[in-house]
Amino acid sequence: MKNQDIFLGIDLGGTKIEIIALNLSGETLYQSRTPTPKHTNAKQQYQLILATINQLITTCECELKRSKLPVGIGLPGAISLKTGLIKNANTTCLIGENFHKDLQDKLNRKIVLENDANCFALSEALDGAGKGETCVFGVILGTGVGSGIVINERLLVGANAIAGEWGHNPLPWPSDKDEPKQVCYCGQSGCIETYLSGPGFQKQSQMQLNTLLSCQQLFSQQKTQPIARLAYELYVERLAKSLAGIINIIDPNTIVLGGGLSNIDSLYTDVPKRWHKYIFSDEINTKLVKNQYGDSSGVRGAAWLTRK
Ligand SMILES: [Zn+2]
Repeated sequence: MKNQDIFLGIDLGGTKIEIIALNLSGETLYQSRTPTPKHTNAKQQYQLILATINQLITTCECELKRSKLPVGIGLPGAISLKTGLIKNANTTCLIGENFHKDLQDKLNRKIVLENDANCFALSEALDGAGKGETCVFGVILGTGVGSGIVINERLLVGANAIAGEWGHNPLPWPSDKDEPKQVCYCGQSGCIETYLSGPGFQKQSQMQLNTLLSCQQLFSQQKTQPIARLAYELYVERLAKSLAGIINIIDPNTIVLGGGLSNIDSLYTDVPKRWHKYIFSDEINTKLVKNQYGDSSGVRGAAWLTRK
């Protein structure tokens, strides 16, 4: 096996850093994870993260008896096209750092960095739940709402590197049932993320339905508790509207859901039942499916970033 037939991916999360090595057929050759280092001093934490990534790669390459393998890295944040610096990362010690350059210097090779939602979309489009489809829209419904677009097995990055970032668009076709709107950290109010992320859904349910049930309780009790049922119905309608807005613009063949809320199996039948009335077509072929790789999709997509 040549070096270009092995793909290394790193998923840098707030709690763990994971590494994977895939071969051309997508089989896992090596996988390992370690907690994300913590330090009260942001500069030192940043250096610890660089060192941990370096260590993970060295150990993996040693195990595979390789060196200088191509590396893709996924992280929850975006890289500024203007400055090359990290912006909006929830591992805050990365913000303002030239992570890309620092890593390339440390690892002594070219690496590819991408937002974690884009990695998720790429993983599911290449050999996951959207395999073989022309256009795949991958959505993470978790602590935030992130998305990525893959067309003909290529990630659409966009002129501003924000393609697919629809979590901070306003909820489309809002009704009285969507009031009151929550103020979002981005400065707007009523963003899709404030309704569809886990914390957003819980807070919205508290404000609107005056319930103290957690996000998990609301979903698990939707068949038995009227208040949980109502919260669920509102969630389904809002997800249907939000995805209809995407279908009307990019018309994807498949929409793949990931993140904690993607585990609610009834969404895959209930949401398509409701999106009809918002989609500008009498025939709807778009499929709504659950991810194939779960938690591993991020790290697999990071590895696929280096695929030519
Ligand atoms: Zn927002």
